Order: sequence, then structure tokens, then C-alpha cells
Amino acid sequence: MKVLKFGGTSVGTVEALRNVKYIVENQEEPVIVVVSALGGLTDTLIQAANLAAKNDIGAYRIVQDITARHNEIMNKLITGEQIDDALNRVRALFYELSNAYTDISRNEELTEADLEEVVSYGERLSSLIISLIIDDATYFNSLEIMRSSNHECDLEATNANIANTLGKFKGKVAVMGGFISRDSKSRRISNLGRGGSDYTAAIVASALNADSLEIWTDVDGFMTADPKVDPNATVIRQMTYDQAQEMCDQGAKVIYAPTIKPVAEKHIPIWVKNTFNRGALGTLISD
Ligand code: ADP
Ligand code: ASP
Ligand code: MG
Repeated sequence: MKVLKFGGTSVGTVEALRNVKYIVENQEEPVIVVVSALGGLTDTLIQAANLAAKNDIGAYRIVQDITARHNEIMNKLITGEQIDDALNRVRALFYELSNAYTDISRNEELTEADLEEVVSYGERLSSLIISLIIDDATYFNSLEIMRSSNHECDLEATNANIANTLGKFKGKVAVMGGFISRDSKSRRISNLGRGGSDYTAAIVASALNADSLEIWTDVDGFMTADPKVDPNATVIRQMTYDQAQEMCDQGAKVIYAPTIKPVAEKHIPIWVKNTFNRGALGTLISD
């Protein structure tokens, strides 16, 4: 069994999602798919929350825009009888999201708890929709599985939940949202930190002793530098966990830094692969 994580750009457009569907449906072994919110959506949800706190109607315009963006993806990629069910389930989530912004507007204040709640809709929406796009996939609600304290995973509670849910799954494809979680004590939504979908995938891979963790993103692999900053950066074919950890700690955001440890401890190889260039060899991170 493998864990495949797809980041925001990989799930941000209809074209990108066609690649994701192809990659997942052509896996030979069972997979757990961890997805981010649609590219840019987390920032947009935060922007709307700031507008709502100022009682600015712009917050609702943003909700309309993101509703249209998700609906377009569903209409293009979900076929048959599933589309009505999908639109209804997503409509319910948008209704809740609008209510959350209304509460923020009414209080004219944006608390940390409000912000954690509104950003969680990004992955709640993407994971539900992607589970309906991929053939024969089963949706798992990460808010019922992932537990944290101060944005760090509560491994004891989370591993028990993983064992009781994904651990018993006998199907071929499971889909869940990255990043989102609930606080172990208060049970309020409290997420894993920006870029945290990689970390969710690593925790799941470690808990289930996966054969590998694949981080599918928008570059050909882990590179000598950020290619957006250094055009001469080249792909590193193989790295040790320590080398990857050091570069992540120094800010290489291709992998969220807390991701390495849970898989390194279990000697699970990490592959960094490009959703938009499947033929590229990628990077292997291992002992
Ligand atoms: P995702 O949405 O898939 O999680 P991120 O934007 O978080 O993707 O990470 C991928 C980006 O990380 C790349 O587009 C690249 O600009 C940046 N990056 C920074 N450092 C590196 C590096 N050393 N190697 C590869 N990409 C890097
Ligand atoms: N959506 C979250 C973020 O933008 C988590 C992630 O993409 O990994 O930070
Ligand atoms: Mg990322």
C-alpha cells in the first residue's frame, strides 16, 4: 500500500485533476490519496475572513467565486448519477462556510478559532470532490481521524483513529484531506500548519507502514534550489532523510519540514514526483 499526496497546484484546475485521476486510477496496489485544497484557496479563505471581520460584503463575493470554481470542476469531471449528489453535498459545505463568515461579520472580530474553521473548508471541499472524480474511491473525513495539539499531530489519538478507519479499509482507493484536524482536547478544528498536507500524508504512511510516500507536486523533484528563484537549479535524484530534512529546515518548501521524521523513523521511502510530467524520474529520499 502506498500513500500519494497531491498539492494545491496538482488539484487546482480541471486539467490538473485529469492528471491526478489518471495517476491514481493506474496504480497497481491500493493507495491512500491525501489532497490539499485547490491551489490558492487557503489564502483566499483567509482573505475573505479578514473582509468579513470588517463587515465587508467582499467576503460573500469571494464565497460566490469559489463556489463557481468548485462547481465548474464538478460539472466537468463528475459524470452520471453522481453529479446531483455531489452538488448537494458541496452546497451544504458552502452553506456552512457562508454561515461561518456571517458569524465573523456579526462579531466584527476574527478569532484564531474562526480562522482555523474557515480555512478547513478548502480541504473538506477538495477531498470530497476528488473522491467523486476518481473511479471507485472511498471518502474518509480527516476531521474524524486527525488529532492535534498546538498544530502538531497528537500521534497517540491519531494513530488509534487511523487504525480504526483507514487501517480496516479493504478497497483500492481512499481519499482524505490533508492539513485539517481537530484539537485533541477541545475537539475544535485546529489544523496542522501551512503546507501541512505533506505532514498528514507522512503520518498516515507511518501509521500504516506504507511501502512508500509519494509527494506529487509541480516540479520534477527535490532540486538544488527553488527553481522559481534559481533558474539553474537541477533535480537531485537521491537524497538521505537527513539531507532532505536539512534543506526543508532551511526553507525548501517542496516538502513541509515536519513530514520527514514520521516516515524516516519507519524507513519508508519518499518520492517527489511531478503531476504535470509523469515521465520525469523524480527524487527518492531514503536511508
Ligand atoms: P504543493 O502545492 O504541491 O504542496 P508547494 O508550492 O508547497 O507545492 O511546493 C512546491 C514548490 O516548492 C515548487 O513549485 C518550488 O517553487 C518550491 N521549492 C522551493 N524549494 C525547492 C526545492 N529545493 N526543490 C523543489 N522545489 C522547491
Ligand atoms: N492548504 C494548506 C495550505 O495552503 C495546506 C497544504 O496545501 O498543504 O497551507
Ligand atoms: Mg506544499
